[in-house]
Amino acid sequence: MKSNLLKIFFFCLVITSAFSQKTAIISKALIDGTGKTITNAAVIIEGERIISVGKKENIPSGITIIDLGDYTLMPGFIDMHCHPLGNAHDDYQIYHLENSSADKALQCLTNVQGMLKAGWTSIRVPGDLDVGYAHFAVRDAINKGAFQGPRIFGAGHWISVTGGGGDLNFFSDEQTGVKVDGLVVDGPEELRKAVRNEIKYGSDWIKLLVTGAFMTAGDNPQNVHFSKEELTVAMDEATRRDVPVMAHAHSAEGITMAIRAGAKTIEHGSFLDDEGIDLFLKNGTYLIPTLTIGKWFLEFNENSQALAKAIAITKKYRPQTELMLAKAIKAGVKVGVGTDLTGTYPEYCANEFSELVRLGMTPMQAIMAGTKVNADALGKSNDLGTIEAGKFADIVAVKGDPLKDINELKKIKFVMKGGKVIKLEK
Ligand SMILES: [Zn+2]
Repeated sequence: MKSNLLKIFFFCLVITSAFSQKTAIISKALIDGTGKTITNAAVIIEGERIISVGKKENIPSGITIIDLGDYTLMPGFIDMHCHPLGNAHDDYQIYHLENSSADKALQCLTNVQGMLKAGWTSIRVPGDLDVGYAHFAVRDAINKGAFQGPRIFGAGHWISVTGGGGDLNFFSDEQTGVKVDGLVVDGPEELRKAVRNEIKYGSDWIKLLVTGAFMTAGDNPQNVHFSKEELTVAMDEATRRDVPVMAHAHSAEGITMAIRAGAKTIEHGSFLDDEGIDLFLKNGTYLIPTLTIGKWFLEFNENSQALAKAIAITKKYRPQTELMLAKAIKAGVKVGVGTDLTGTYPEYCANEFSELVRLGMTPMQAIMAGTKVNADALGKSNDLGTIEAGKFADIVAVKGDPLKDINELKKIKFVMKGGKVIKLEK
């Protein structure tokens, strides 16, 4: 018995010393996520976390070195709006009806592993295409170490009203047995119950479809769907449980209503106006404009019947959206990176950085939007978003200089998550 205990003790010592071995990543340049760059940089890592950041000439001897030559290091990217249960099917509601929760979980695992290899070390899911909670099963399996994948945060479902952007609006009234992917609820008490269920089954965010949507049949993104009473109850219920709310809001009225009610992030914000910009600044609310999905519609789906509504609205209003977003960026609204894609084509997701640069951000600001700003919005700035001592060693690298060409972010060569090398291309 005693010798068995001793064996366990020594085994634990071996595990601890193996795990606590220090590693230094050295490279020509480092963008730390706070706005600073360091040349000839060294990041020293122990276990899952960064213990120091400095110059490579100062690294202690006897530690493992990963020499990335002339690469540029950055914090791992965070996609604040990713729906990994889907497979880039042009009609996501048909995809939902055709596939079981188990099918979607497998698709999710493939998608998020691709995202991780493309540099996205964390994602936030704003509800997804499932009656159940398939992405939480994937999240939990990754957290237990059963599979490799990014850190996953977010909501189980989007919460919508009858006939709203989260409902299945293309069936006849006789088809009452069809299960919708989101939660369709009406009135304050159903809202309260839905929020409680979401938290009970593992949501660390609540997602409300405050206005209509671009992609669903039969509703108008310029209409506000929630009553003030419904919104207040949902917000109150989430806030008492310390769970932040993300509000899908296209119309100007929906945006201002959701900010006033206390939403932490506004998703899309397509019809933003000056009053909205003032409210974002006053309340410190984050805007996740999800420009990439609009680009995706126009570049790859122009002839899609299923996306005809989304494409027509995008074409008509995109210039106005971009104008107001450029104004919001200039005014100092906290804008984060979110793609609204499934992750099926993970490199495409880095287009969000390029779009933000096109609308007035410097490359440094865009990189910070997808790292530090998003970590702050997630409430995870102690762990994520920058390369600083104490943070998780979630680090990516590219070969070129992303401050000269933001499109370099589409070509990730190195990924580390929590101190483990996921990808290294030389
Ligand atoms: Zn979305």
